[in-house]
Amino acid sequence: MNLLSPASTIDDQLDQLLTRVQRVSETDYGFRACCPGHNGNELSLSIFERGGRILPYCWDDCSTEKILRSIGLEMSARFIDLEKEVPKSNTKEPKERSDYAEFFFDPAATSEPDEWIFEGFLHKGELVTWLGREKHSKTTLALQMVICAAVGKPFLNFRFAPAKPLKVLVIDYESKTGTIRKRYDAICRGLGLTKDEQRNVEENLKILEVRKMRIEGELDLPPLATGNKSKLQFNVEEWKSLIAEHCADIYIIDPLRCAHYLDENDSQIANLMISLQRLFKGSTIILLHHLRKSDDQAESDQKLIERDIHQWSDRARGSGAIKAHADLIVCQVRSEEEETGPAIFWGAFGRDIADIDVKKLEESDPDSFTWTPVKRVPQKLQKSWQVLREHVRAAPNTPRDKRELVEVILSNKVSEATAYRHFDSLVQAGFLVRPPDSPNYILDEKLV
Ligand SMILES: [Zn+2]
Repeated sequence: MNLLSPASTIDDQLDQLLTRVQRVSETDYGFRACCPGHNGNELSLSIFERGGRILPYCWDDCSTEKILRSIGLEMSARFIDLEKEVPKSNTKEPKERSDYAEFFFDPAATSEPDEWIFEGFLHKGELVTWLGREKHSKTTLALQMVICAAVGKPFLNFRFAPAKPLKVLVIDYESKTGTIRKRYDAICRGLGLTKDEQRNVEENLKILEVRKMRIEGELDLPPLATGNKSKLQFNVEEWKSLIAEHCADIYIIDPLRCAHYLDENDSQIANLMISLQRLFKGSTIILLHHLRKSDDQAESDQKLIERDIHQWSDRARGSGAIKAHADLIVCQVRSEEEETGPAIFWGAFGRDIADIDVKKLEESDPDSFTWTPVKRVPQKLQKSWQVLREHVRAAPNTPRDKRELVEVILSNKVSEATAYRHFDSLVQAGFLVRPPDSPNYILDEKLV
């Protein structure tokens, strides 16, 4: 009876299974085929081997038993049945008091301040929700940010704080390979990276192309949350091994809705946000997320984001937990302006930073996919700036010293003290520039 070794038994078992399902192909991890448990022609059955046993895994949620029954095979110890083998939640013993003790705030202990990644914007270890409509260049701007992190350069005007460049894993569910390549190359060029810096980026930044995985039918990334509890444990293990293999300081999930099978309004979304923090332990996680469908009657995105970024962010789709559980909310609106080309209105707010006022970003060159902040004259200086502009435009090539320009500001019926203060503020902000060795000032040409 025992003529067969255990190894050949599993091979036999596997052969039996493979001969009874349709459209089998071998993959890096095992096999893929049509699932016999439900109707449909897509390759929704994966066959994994785990610990010397076979796991038939239907992406459409058929149980192991149903799959085997439909091809006339008996359930046996050679097969893993996730329905039966997943430990039920809440079966753990309650925690000992001592387990909690180390997590109480200790007033006597010294603690390091939170470490910045980009000073004034992003801390290490934060859970970030990055909001914007589809096709509003979220993926591009987030890619620009992580290329900056992977090479140790400032992002927009935020200084890169860590001592060395960071490792990044982007999990991209939707982009085509060619699109990723176009953006990636353009941003490296747009940021003016040297060959050495580009090698840094190649080493530190990994982009997982889930769309390609799916199209080639090689492998899939299971959802991080699904209504089917019996599969959750398995799925989380798959993610854990992905994260263990590709350890990073920053992870991007683009977009969040592809990483789970829940309804976005489901109360389970809060659990998903918490489980993300557990899974990515201490790393920064950035979730790209869309907005609800726009309402023609409502205030435009651009107007609202400039007026009140918090209120604009309430247009996020789905459960409030997607915002409520985030440490930082990044907000982004793209607009196509006929005269000046595309622009992005971008700002952020969070638990541990002062609100970042919405900045206008412009593409540094057409098709560079690289965005830079446009200098804007602050509201309180607008009137003084206007009158200076008009004055200069009337006779563009005349030299003008400080006294003359202050007189111009005074014509706006402000006090002398205010006129000098505004003049100094405009110089400090770089709107009025004095070339070296000249007493005369010129206005920043981009702004005139
Ligand atoms: Zn199935």
